[in-house]
Amino acid sequence: MLDFVSVDQAHAHIHSTLQALPTEVVPLTDALGRTLAAAVTSPGPLPPFCNAAMDGVALRAADVPDVPTTLPLAFEGSIATLERPLPAGACARITTGQPLPPGADAVVPVERIKETDAGVRVMRAVTEGQHVRPAGENMAAGDTIIGSGQVLTPAAVSLLAAAGAAEVTVRQRPQVAILVTGDEIVPHTQTPPPGAIRDSNGPDLQGRVQMAGGEAYVVHAGDRRRALRQALASLRSADVLVVSGGMSVGRDDLVREVLAAMGTTWHFHRVRQRPGKPMTFGHWGAVPVFGLPGNPVSSAVCFEVYGRPALAQMLGRQTIHPPRHPATLTTPLRVIHGLHYFARGVATVSEEGRLQVRSTGAQGSSLSRSMWEANCLIHVEEARTNPPTGAPVTIQWLPGAP
Ligand code: AMP
Ligand code: MG
Repeated sequence: MLDFVSVDQAHAHIHSTLQALPTEVVPLTDALGRTLAAAVTSPGPLPPFCNAAMDGVALRAADVPDVPTTLPLAFEGSIATLERPLPAGACARITTGQPLPPGADAVVPVERIKETDAGVRVMRAVTEGQHVRPAGENMAAGDTIIGSGQVLTPAAVSLLAAAGAAEVTVRQRPQVAILVTGDEIVPHTQTPPPGAIRDSNGPDLQGRVQMAGGEAYVVHAGDRRRALRQALASLRSADVLVVSGGMSVGRDDLVREVLAAMGTTWHFHRVRQRPGKPMTFGHWGAVPVFGLPGNPVSSAVCFEVYGRPALAQMLGRQTIHPPRHPATLTTPLRVIHGLHYFARGVATVSEEGRLQVRSTGAQGSSLSRSMWEANCLIHVEEARTNPPTGAPVTIQWLPGAP
């Protein structure tokens, strides 16, 4: 087992061991937020037929050499227009989305015509193709609509619906077991006895897992070996095990020992970072195990930095790591040279249109309020010293950031 690895080494270890989960087929209307596991191609052109982009009349541009020109109204547009050729020198009334009658090559909007007894008077010059939506303008037959590994947004669902994809093949959602340790921790629904506190990491991690595309369930165990063993025995079938607390080197931090005795191979313990130095990773059989430090900020930051990308990889997503954006500090930061620092930040766009970021203030790893106030994590790499106001940094958005 490696000790005290860099953030990059930690990522490399985690990602070299994970695999995409099996797939399942779900109705399109249940697929929002799921990750597509097989590209969907367009079975035909979209739109399927050439149609009008405006309400008005369909005509041949060549029939209007000068303006004004009056053309007789041959017929009213309808679905049947698809097969009803436009007689030479005439026009047909048409509404937005109706098929252009064969022969027509332009649409003149109602605002640009005058109806007279002789027919329709066209007031402005007409160019071929104006206000016409050609068949296949949106998608050609055989085009990839959405690629494998893409997350289905409402717009993706809309496109798939238009192309007739009633069902889609997606990755199964990772089932994440969250083991909350600590003799001093009671479920948040209980009143803690003196000296104890409510579990906030369980609900926090459950939400983060859900927002990352997984499903989570929380199991409480204290710090005693037997209780830990018993709780763990019920969690073997999970796709991922996340342990909150008990990862440090205190007298009660027995999780690593108990899991090792149950067959876990630990790949690394401790990462050169703050918060979250005790971060630990291993495998319990086929189950990846993320040991997160118990302090609420450390737990949340470690999930965002390691857990979220891991779930993205298991979901077969095209983008695994959240993008990092350059920003300018508007408050100085105190960091620890030799540790990658993840500060909680509030990023905004300056008057000049540039990304700027301030610290949320005190950065103690028990100050969970800082995590709530933040919309991003500020990265300060381990080689850097205290960055002053004006220093360049990079940020990653936190889930739910605008
Ligand atoms: P540990 O990593 O177990 O040493 O815990 C470090 C700190 O985090 C202690 O102050 C714990 O009380 C606190 N802590 C641990 N687990 C939780 C939890 N589930 N919810 C809130 N605080 C916790
Ligand atoms: Mg503990």
